[in-house]
Amino acid sequence: MKPHAIFLLFCCVLFALALNGQEPDAERRVNVYLESIREDVPALRRFFHRMPKGGDLHHHFHGSVYAETFLREALRHDFWVHRADLTLQAPGFRPSGKTRRDWARLSDLRREGRLDAYSARLLQQWSNLYYVPGRAELSPHDHFFNAFPSFDAVADSCLGIGLVEIKNRALSENVTYIETMFTMPQHPIVPETRRHEVLRAGIADTAALFQTLSALFTEITAHPAFRSSVTAHNAFVRKLHETLEIDDDRFTMRYQNYVLRVKPPAQVFTDLTIGFASAQEEPLIVGVNIVAPEDHPIAMQDYRLHMYFYHFLRQRFPSVKCALHAGELAPGLVAPEELTWHIDAAVRIARADRIGHGVDIPYEPDALLPHMAQRGIPVEINLSSNAFILGIPLQEHPLSLYRRAGVPLVISTDDAGVLRGSLTEEYVLLYRNHAFRYSELKQLAFNAIRYSFIAEPGIRERILENLKTDFILFEQAVLGD
Ligand SMILES: [Zn+2]
Repeated sequence: MKPHAIFLLFCCVLFALALNGQEPDAERRVNVYLESIREDVPALRRFFHRMPKGGDLHHHFHGSVYAETFLREALRHDFWVHRADLTLQAPGFRPSGKTRRDWARLSDLRREGRLDAYSARLLQQWSNLYYVPGRAELSPHDHFFNAFPSFDAVADSCLGIGLVEIKNRALSENVTYIETMFTMPQHPIVPETRRHEVLRAGIADTAALFQTLSALFTEITAHPAFRSSVTAHNAFVRKLHETLEIDDDRFTMRYQNYVLRVKPPAQVFTDLTIGFASAQEEPLIVGVNIVAPEDHPIAMQDYRLHMYFYHFLRQRFPSVKCALHAGELAPGLVAPEELTWHIDAAVRIARADRIGHGVDIPYEPDALLPHMAQRGIPVEINLSSNAFILGIPLQEHPLSLYRRAGVPLVISTDDAGVLRGSLTEEYVLLYRNHAFRYSELKQLAFNAIRYSFIAEPGIRERILENLKTDFILFEQAVLGD
């Protein structure tokens, strides 16, 4: 063993001893138990299912509802399905002419005795159920991202049902807070096409770019549909949240607006402006995120421009928080030089409050990790999502770099419906593949509340108090086992 390796080992032992010494007795004893079941996966699942996990901060609503729910609703409303490519259409759809024979109502398929076969295919198209990499037509990456448009027609009629499903599932696995990327305000504002190239050309001179953005911002906010779109969206979210009684003594949900990063740039800026204005006014909507594949050609081309959009809008709407998908990229997916700057730009230009995924961190500038640690900018870790979509082996996930640098971690699911996972499973995978002590895992659960964007006074504190009590009860139960 080389001298520096011996020194590193010595430091690790010292660190472990120090940690051990500071741990309350109950935590130390639970850790002994947890170590004793490290190789016993069913016992680990039982442990983490029962362990309070705080919140889930990287959570897409549409990707978190299980496909069975979409299928049930499509059957209930008798949707149309395309016999070949399984595209779904709402009941009001009227196929005509030559294409009529390509379409069937789900009730037609039932009469024909083909409903079970079609149902199985739909569940597989909408999730990774029975997906076998290499044997499937599409790569995991494309299979995953194609699932969303294919269930879109029914997903929007499942907003209420989906929220209740997500809440009940969270409570059943001891998760008491969810911050979900829910919807985007609907609006009719379409900027002139020439604006797109003006913005793209403007990136060379940021002062001029901000002037262009300022003019565009004035135009958008003066549009007659601007105010009504924001008001209607916020009223819709609040009514749904209150009618369904989503918040109660044991559970809290908050929402992020999101925009699609693959649209033309002036449209992305328009959507962001409306998303920010909505979040600024409605306490239930706590942030604005940017979604769709980061490696998509338009997302790659406009990435830096999008970060400047955030920079600009954060000054106009200072109370709105931002978690940004950044660095959801892997070697081979994009050119190597593209792996070196997305997280850095999200942190330094867009001033992101949290980073989603952040898996290209090994290639980013050296100063970034200490900067994130010093500013307390957490990274949202999505182990199974990164393994499935990007092919990052669980034990090679770069969370180790963040952890060593002292960057706060939160553990999240991303799209537990499409990926057919749960927060429990994320903790099992984390523990199986990375050496965490129980006290650190407990810290992760607290991080998922501490780094939430909850804005109203007193709520975060109440959830943290409940979490403390839940952990006392949990530890008593484990040690009494
Ligand atoms: Zn995501």
